[in-house]
Amino acid sequence: MVQDSIRVLQAQRYKVTKPRLQVLEVLERARKPLSPYDIQRLLRLKGKYINHVTIYRILELFCNLNLAHKVLSSGGFVKCGLGKKEGCHRFMVCRQCGAIKEFADEELCREENEFAQNVGFHTEYHLSESSGLCANCYRKQFGQ
Ligand SMILES: [Zn+2]
Ligand SMILES: [Zn+2]
Ligand SMILES: [Zn+2]
Repeated sequence: MVQDSIRVLQAQRYKVTKPRLQVLEVLERARKPLSPYDIQRLLRLKGKYINHVTIYRILELFCNLNLAHKVLSSGGFVKCGLGKKEGCHRFMVCRQCGAIKEFADEELCREENEFAQNVGFHTEYHLSESSGLCANCYRKQFGQ
């Protein structure tokens, strides 16, 4: 999986530096969105140090390349779980357990673009997130 990200970096002519690789590895193993400080802390546990400005820049690059995304509600970063899927990558975030589901739907993008065009707005990309309950938490709460 880290291998796939490395290929994307190389294809865009970005160097696979040690810090980039280390951040990729941390994101790959993470089960929750991570802040730059979380990433710094996790690296420190392994005896590695990257200053947080560098981590932030690396995350910015990864987001621009769609290798990672910022989760809007928490501000944390997650590794992209979809790869090259068409349409903007979006999230459903469970407010109970924090489970995150990533999805992309070209049709949804198209509809939103049309909606925007009707009010004279030209959309370049979509950032959106749904907040609510995942199937598990919904079942626990409502017993269905
Ligand atoms: Zn993604
Ligand atoms: Zn949940
Ligand atoms: Zn879109």
